[in-house]
Amino acid sequence: MNLFGYIPESVNEGTGLRAVLFISGCRHACPGCFSPDSWSFRAGEPFTEERQQQILHEVTNHPLLDGVTLCGGDPFFSAAACTRWVRQFRDARPDLTVWAYTGFEYEELIADPERAELAQLCDVIIDGRYLAAERDVSLPFRGSRNQRLIDVRATQASGNIVTLHLGAV
Ligand code: SF4
Repeated sequence: MNLFGYIPESVNEGTGLRAVLFISGCRHACPGCFSPDSWSFRAGEPFTEERQQQILHEVTNHPLLDGVTLCGGDPFFSAAACTRWVRQFRDARPDLTVWAYTGFEYEELIADPERAELAQLCDVIIDGRYLAAERDVSLPFRGSRNQRLIDVRATQASGNIVTLHLGAV
């Protein structure tokens, strides 16, 4: 797994103050993608065990973070490796939240065992490919109208897709 980028503090990829990890690699090839340089699984730096632990230490000891966001690329193409990191983060800071962006639809994620495991560790998933025809710059935290902010816990509890009430996180 490679790390395309890392932002220690951001207010743009989810609610509150979040650290953002951009995981290299995406095969969705959405026309108009905001970051085609991140499609290659070799882009960025090798996300070595040392670098993973360094970022883990940083985010778990940050006094002001509300959580972390996995971005890409598409982290669900590297689901097993991301799961391992997120599980460590969850164990260390169960009080913080995990958001993740993906070009898959939620229903596709939960149909795949490795992707479902990562999905279940997230609080919020912004799903769906970027569709230029559905572009809307006024939407919070997403680029096109087809993309959903999915409240994962509420969705699991109800068995139906529940989208996020932004005041609730
Ligand atoms: S899923 Fe995201 S990173 Fe992948 S091609 Fe689509 S917009 Fe780009």
